[in-house]
Amino acid sequence: MSGSGNREGNGQIRSTMLPYGRQWLDDEDKAAVMRVLDSDFLTQGPMIAEFERGIADYVGARFAVAFTNGTAALHAACFAAGIGPGDEVITSPITFLASSNCVLYMGGTPVFADIKMDTYNIDPDCIEAAITPNTKAIIPVDFTGQPAELDRIMDIADRHGLIVIEDAAHSLGASYKGRKVGSIADMTMFSFHPVKHITSGEGGMIVTDNEEYYHKLQLFRNHGMTRDPAQMEQNDGPWYYEMHALGFNYRMTDMQAALGLSQLGKLDKFVELRRSIARTYTEAFSEMPGVIVPYQHPDADSSWHLYVIRIDPQKFIKSRREIFEKLRSENIGVNVHYIPVYKQPYYLMLGYGDTVNHNADLYYETAITLPLFPQMNNFDVTDVLNMVQIILKS
Ligand SMILES: *Cc1c(COP(=O)(O)O)cnc(C)c1O
Repeated sequence: MSGSGNREGNGQIRSTMLPYGRQWLDDEDKAAVMRVLDSDFLTQGPMIAEFERGIADYVGARFAVAFTNGTAALHAACFAAGIGPGDEVITSPITFLASSNCVLYMGGTPVFADIKMDTYNIDPDCIEAAITPNTKAIIPVDFTGQPAELDRIMDIADRHGLIVIEDAAHSLGASYKGRKVGSIADMTMFSFHPVKHITSGEGGMIVTDNEEYYHKLQLFRNHGMTRDPAQMEQNDGPWYYEMHALGFNYRMTDMQAALGLSQLGKLDKFVELRRSIARTYTEAFSEMPGVIVPYQHPDADSSWHLYVIRIDPQKFIKSRREIFEKLRSENIGVNVHYIPVYKQPYYLMLGYGDTVNHNADLYYETAITLPLFPQMNNFDVTDVLNMVQIILKS
């Protein structure tokens, strides 16, 4: 990144904002997009299936379906899972809005189960406690890139007949007990937004081993229509198509798929660089009293989308807000991931004001996300470490 280095004349440690995340594109990526622009198909062409195959093979899943973005992919997964009015779906409150909004899109009811205070992932005990006769699915989120406790969650789902849709927007490239994320849940969603591990500009995907879900996902992406004679109720001729469900146009373009496929070749390198920066952060922050570094569960091998520290309010005179504002004023692009979803005005309007998730509230009061992306260099990392140290000590 440009702008890194030592304190400059204007008093800030950096001349430009170091973002919390950003893409890394090279000439190969750009050439892949250009080839599509010169081809016959800008959309509905061959790159979609190639990108889908690439991701499915990488994670070890039978099927993959690409979408315009991860949110659309989650919407489609909820459709494939048959979620509708009266159905409850349990998810984490410490997540991006899309993890629960996708349930609302289908007329279902999101139910928030509290997080664990060590991993910040959904607590399987809280999932069990939240199950009612109306529960239909669980949407665990692999927060920061660390897989949720998937064995326990799959076991709970088995015992109660629930479908597991894993929100793996943070965890492409991560493993759980040696198995790649994407090979474990009933359906797993990835996002290719530029801050995520690899990008297609906007983009998302669902991977699954279940053929029925696979067909429903494809149907939903394309207006709910099929041209497959095997699935049609009648057949008026070669032009004939049938609409079987109320789907959307959620198709990814071939430019996006080409970019995503080119990026996929760099995924392992990107994840290694993220892990290395995370190790550097953890070593340095472990020495700072009052800073709580992210705990890693022995079953999880995170792909590190986010690096979150927590500030023990008892140990500092400055509030989290003051620390945050100071870091931003020094062009360190800190963030807070996330505001518990049930605190959002829209959710309050829906009646979520009674939700009690103490850990999520405590987490939210104390968390700060630090910049973390593969192209960060040693100067960038040192700027973050130095600035956090200076601000916490002053
Ligand atoms: C990014 C993200 C999404 C949605 O992905 P988009 O591609 O931006 O629609 C969903 N859930 C989580 C946890 C995310 O971080």
